[in-house]
Parts: sequence; structure tokens; C-alpha cells
Amino acid sequence: MRTFTTCPGCGDVLAYQDRRTRTHPGCQDPQGYEFELEREFLAAAEAGDNALADTLAAQLDGMFDRPPRLFDAALAYAEMGWPVFPLRPGTKIPFPNTRGFKDATDNRILIRQWWGRWPMANIGLPTGRHFDVIDIDFRHGARPAWDRLRAVDAMPDVHGVASTAHNGIHLLLEPAGGGNLTRAGALPGIDYRGRGGYIVAPPSILASGRRYTWEVKPSPVITAPRRPVPTRSAGAP
Ligand SMILES: [Zn+2]
Repeated sequence: MRTFTTCPGCGDVLAYQDRRTRTHPGCQDPQGYEFELEREFLAAAEAGDNALADTLAAQLDGMFDRPPRLFDAALAYAEMGWPVFPLRPGTKIPFPNTRGFKDATDNRILIRQWWGRWPMANIGLPTGRHFDVIDIDFRHGARPAWDRLRAVDAMPDVHGVASTAHNGIHLLLEPAGGGNLTRAGALPGIDYRGRGGYIVAPPSILASGRRYTWEVKPSPVITAPRRPVPTRSAGAP
């Protein structure tokens, strides 16, 4: 399974190997506070300094938990060209008297109004437009089917991975143009979400206190405005 993300240095597609994949060779790693913290965290974890790693992890977690973060994230998705819509705080459910994912928009003014009114609203992202999602729920016995899919190399390219608030993962793929498929029984715990579906997006938090997080930030292949896949000719003038 090939996985791609966005290089924070140049903004182009970056093949993802593991959490230490930061940038293309030669691309500058941004000096933002969050990146610094994450680098320090990884260094501490590698050095076996668990106390320091725990402290830094708590600081990183704290940054995601700050209330403005949901609004910031909703705006960031809109910047990526992804329409968003609000979900009731602590839930995966749209607000009553709304049309749910059909209301999704990348309009900054509407987004500001929604999260101004409901600062703790979770973020919904419609599927089937900019990306489809394979939704894997390990609570419902997805592990064997998931292991098998990977073993036979049956997976399409993945352009972003989020962990869910309930022991699952969302794999983001280029949209295939189809709708939702719930393969109950065929592949237990694994659903395909296309047109007519939505996912809960990071950093949404459920009432359990567990949140959605990006394991692999989305690649430019599925974010708009779409950038061409880079042709990096090393050493070119
Ligand atoms: Zn780069």
C-alpha cells in the first residue's frame, strides 16, 4: 500500500514511510512551534527519555484541545477546498433542522458564523467529492480483513490517514465516483464512503474525550487547488 502526504516545506506530494517522514530531502522543515515540539518529542522518544516524551506529548495534545482549534481546523479545510459542516458537540450527528452534509460549504463567512455560534461543534466532511474514504472500525472485527487486504496488495493509493475516536482509521483515497458501500458480513468492520456520505474530521472530539487525529496529513492529490504531481529533477539549476 502506497501512502502519500504533503511536504510541509514545498507543499507538494511526499511519499510517506513513517512518522519520521518530514520533508523531501533538501526541503526546509518549517520552524513552527508545533513542528519543533513534534521533533523534540520524536527525539526524546528515540532516546528513550520517556518522561520528557510524555511531557512533550501532553503539550502537543493540549494544543489540539484548545477550543479555537475546531474553528481553525474548519477554516483550514476550507482553504484546502474541502467543504465542511458542523456536527453537534461531542457527537458525529449533524445539528437538528439542518441538511447535514448537504449544507457543507467552504464559504469562510458561513464557517465563521457556525463556529462562532457553536465553538465546540465537531467538523463533518462530505465524502465522494474531493476524496472517498475506507472506514475501518477495529471494534467490529476489521483486523483480519484489513490484514488480508494489505497482504495481497489490494489497496489503492492512500492520500491521508486519520485515526478515529473509537479505535478505527479513515483512509482517504482519490474519489472513484460511486456512493456508499456497507459490506456488512463481507468485510466486517470495513465500510466504503463515497457520494452521499461523510466523515467526522480531526480534531473533532467525542463525548468520551477521545478525538480524531491526522496520522498522515492529506496529500495535495486530494486537496484543492490541485497541484500537479511534482517532477523533481535533483540538481536542476
Ligand atoms: Zn518538499
